[in-house]
Amino acid sequence: QADLAMYRAKDSGRNTLCFFEPEMHQVVKARAALEADFRKALREDQLHLHYQPHVDDQGHILGAEALLRWSHPERGMVPPMEFIAVAEQTGLIIKLGRWVLQTACQQLALWHRESQWMRINMAVNVSAKQFRHPDFVREVAEILQSTGAPAQHLVLELTESLLLEDTETVITRMNALRELGVGFALDDFGTGYSSLSYLKRLPLSLLKIDQSFVRDILVDANDAAIAEMIITLAKTLGLEVIAEGVETPEQRDFLLEMGCHQFQGYLFGRPGPVDQLEKRLVGRRTGTHN
Ligand code: C2E
Ligand code: MG
Ligand code: MG
Ligand code: MG
Repeated sequence: QADLAMYRAKDSGRNTLCFFEPEMHQVVKARAALEADFRKALREDQLHLHYQPHVDDQGHILGAEALLRWSHPERGMVPPMEFIAVAEQTGLIIKLGRWVLQTACQQLALWHRESQWMRINMAVNVSAKQFRHPDFVREVAEILQSTGAPAQHLVLELTESLLLEDTETVITRMNALRELGVGFALDDFGTGYSSLSYLKRLPLSLLKIDQSFVRDILVDANDAAIAEMIITLAKTLGLEVIAEGVETPEQRDFLLEMGCHQFQGYLFGRPGPVDQLEKRLVGRRTGTHN
């Protein structure tokens, strides 16, 4: 646990302790240990996906976001923020990302085959390194093909940082995926660099208002102003918009008043195993859930 904490401190770049030799050694050791553990996790099925619903203004489920979970045999549940960065740095993200996409698409295909109540969208997070890998488009096409998942219901979540470098390649690649029917969401929107002229050129379908603006939206006028600006921007560009991290009815109502009609957050459901979501979807039939 101490190793992981140290590792996290280093990664966030906040802890100057890291510059002292012994601690530096600790950090390197912790990272190596984490990497070894992580390779093992991939081999031994310790990874799985949780699903969090996103809903419309009636609270009806429109889709789900697949969120990676690692149940470590000793450390328990390790949150993604603690291992995704390592996976990126070591290149393991390629294998990991493929596994996530494959698993989520299998699930999506199953839902769409199984019942009309389960024909929802699936959002999958894609890291910059994964997206930039030359085989990415081919891999997505193959996964769609082999799983039979409906491309029109797959949404890839990208972050603004991806757009910083080599924009032309990114846009070309996005267009190729768009041709397959896949949609794109810009995740954590508002936290990174974004140029308006540039957003206009991307084949996006959805902006996700970052949860950091939602958290204090009722008390912080700046956060409220930013959220409102994102909603207006989405409208102007003809995109859908969803607020992340909605935890209270007051936050939802405030966002609703500003013109946001889609939500994701603990208020509407925490990320959980697939049957938790399926129960709610099936409950639609009788109107007893959801
Ligand atoms: P994200 O894509 O922005 O996902 C939303 C995060 O907010 C999730 O954290 C979710 O559990 C959390 N969340 C949802 N509703 C609420 C709420 O009402 N309040 C609060 N406080 N939090 C809420 P999680 O699952 O820990 O994932 C963190 C990040 O890790 C994700 O942020 C995403 O960037 C990354 N991640 C997760 N799974 C994957 C994956 O399969 N591949 C990649 N590349 N990244 C992933
Ligand atoms: Mg996301
Ligand atoms: Mg987000
Ligand atoms: Mg985030």
